[in-house]
Amino acid sequence: MGGGFCKMVIDALFPRFCLSCKREGQIFCLDCASNWIARPEPVACPFCGIRGSARTCLRCRKENYLDGLVSYLPYGNPIVRGVIGYWKYDGDRSVERTLKQWIEQSRGRLRPVFEEFVVTHVPIHSSRKRLRGFDQAEVLSNWVGEIFDAPIEMLLVRSRKTKPQAKTHHDKRRVGSLDGIFEIHPQVIELPARVLLCDDVFTSGATMDAAAKCLKDAGVEEVWGFVMAKGSHEA
Ligand SMILES: [Zn+2]
Ligand SMILES: [Zn+2]
Repeated sequence: MGGGFCKMVIDALFPRFCLSCKREGQIFCLDCASNWIARPEPVACPFCGIRGSARTCLRCRKENYLDGLVSYLPYGNPIVRGVIGYWKYDGDRSVERTLKQWIEQSRGRLRPVFEEFVVTHVPIHSSRKRLRGFDQAEVLSNWVGEIFDAPIEMLLVRSRKTKPQAKTHHDKRRVGSLDGIFEIHPQVIELPARVLLCDDVFTSGATMDAAAKCLKDAGVEEVWGFVMAKGSHEA
């Protein structure tokens, strides 16, 4: 009851408007959420953007560990950016229903990639999780496991805190600067051969690649990423 009252007060102080039709009420109203379908972006190498395959291209494979990336929402779309932003930066969990629905809509297109993969996530630091109350990548990994009927395991821990990657310009990315920020989770007994690493957004890819490196150094053969959206290479 107390939580409901708090929510009422917050709603009164900070009214929400639908990102699409601008109606007051929710960030993405039920009408708009059920009518809006994410148009996928062309598949491309996650690092250089060369089109044709979601697999990391031969050239980029020399410097990166991630084998490929599945992204199902266009990050350039203001609705997508808005909904993810409310979730990630404002910690507003009311948008989760919409975000989960978007994966369900893409289910048929995304499925083939996930056979024989164990689903895990790129963890945020435990202090950041305490502050925010949840780890958005972990929430996403639970949806992915549920929707695609794949096993979910906590494989990684974040041992060092870093600045959010979205705020670091692509050019400033230094290869190897994120080495050692992840470790294999102490409770892991045996690592799977194939891992699907979930995270909310892929920008430079440095964080996800550091996580992929940690898994591969420990013996994982293939690591693919799964994100809600991929930031553009021009940004
Ligand atoms: Zn609306
Ligand atoms: Zn490439």
